[in-house]
Amino acid sequence: MKPRYLQELIRDLQAFYKCPSCDTSYVFDDIRFLGELESYCFMQLSCHNCSLPVLATVTVSAQADKQIRKTDLRHGEAEQFTAKGAISASEIAEFHRWISRSNRLS
Ligand SMILES: [Zn+2]
Repeated sequence: MKPRYLQELIRDLQAFYKCPSCDTSYVFDDIRFLGELESYCFMQLSCHNCSLPVLATVTVSAQADKQIRKTDLRHGEAEQFTAKGAISASEIAEFHRWISRSNRLS
């Protein structure tokens, strides 16, 4: 992940998404990059107003300069992303364990 691309991704998330609970616009500090798995980027959006955490997966293409093809916002657990089918359930479970571990350490 290039730093410049990550900044653009955060700007896009700020431009297109608001907190689904209280409709507050996200600020830069609300958005955290969790990691990349295959062609997916995982972002966590934490509303500074009501503290609602939202997980976002962003599909990036492997070619060229990694264009954002699609962004999906989902509430709750990462397991829900298994519905997409492109990532296996075990990979999601592993990623979820990784996130939980990272959160405990930070
Ligand atoms: Zn909110």
